[in-house]
Amino acid sequence: MASGGDRLRGGIDLGGTKIQTVVVEADGTLHGEARQPTPTSGGPADVARAMEDALREAATAAEVRPEELAGVGVGSPGDADGATGIVSGARNLPGWEGSFPLGEALAKALGAEVRVGNDVQVAVEGEYALGAGKQHDSLLGVWWGTGVGGGIILGGKPWLGRGAAGEIGHIVVERDGARCPCGRRGCMEAYAGRAAMEGEARHRQEKGHKTDLFKLMEKHGKPRLTSGIWERALDHGDDLAGKLIERAIEALGTGVASACNVLDVEAVVIGGGLGVRFGDRYMDALKAEMDKHLFVNERPPAVRVASLGDLGGAIGASLLVGR
Ligand SMILES: [Zn+2]
Repeated sequence: MASGGDRLRGGIDLGGTKIQTVVVEADGTLHGEARQPTPTSGGPADVARAMEDALREAATAAEVRPEELAGVGVGSPGDADGATGIVSGARNLPGWEGSFPLGEALAKALGAEVRVGNDVQVAVEGEYALGAGKQHDSLLGVWWGTGVGGGIILGGKPWLGRGAAGEIGHIVVERDGARCPCGRRGCMEAYAGRAAMEGEARHRQEKGHKTDLFKLMEKHGKPRLTSGIWERALDHGDDLAGKLIERAIEALGTGVASACNVLDVEAVVIGGGLGVRFGDRYMDALKAEMDKHLFVNERPPAVRVASLGDLGGAIGASLLVGR
């Protein structure tokens, strides 16, 4: 137990399906954690209440009261304004098309200072400070999940641009290519994002390709093709699953290498649901694809899989405290 609890801080990773909270020391040492499903109906205030409950649960596990924490950091989807604590356009959360003062609402509810940041950026910063990116001064985080997000650290500092940097999923890997969930064409995410891959799998199945992907999804009671379902299909040697993963790796290799040609970072950290599950399995294939497109390929960046695990987003968010 840290003295009086004053050195402990909270972290909240707000995801589309779950809210993960931690109470940690400044160096990430875990004292308590909790998770709750993200509300699927209602609005931002309901989501904020679920976040409060989950943080309180983690604080109880850490034997500290929320108001004793040095602060609470939040990694949020959508446009998260660190200066005001306002989150806008978090479209994978219920009723959150507009703006909501998440920082203020949580600060009032918890009696602690609350800092808000972008979910992928804080997860990348967590890996930089405490995880797979620890030995490096510059890195590109590639969060391969439902979409493909990213985060950039340059010279030891997060690079946010004017607030929208790091959107590596929308780097163009094929002009006039596949339609991306963002509405444009040929983005890396249109080939590698879990949602886009599921759409393509369905499309090809309807055209007559044989696959067990959707049978496995039903058998395991999943509403969508999760990374676990993809893994099962690949383990069974499912031909369509194999082709679509290969296509995703090609797109990732092309896009990531293109970004590296601009940034020349020391390391690339692959995270996200698909990234953590498949990063090691497809590491050689990914590096081979990158090699085709790296301009200076005799000195490729280190490529590593995120190492903080399921709690990485929440631990990364805790680093916002005191910044
Ligand atoms: Zn796009």
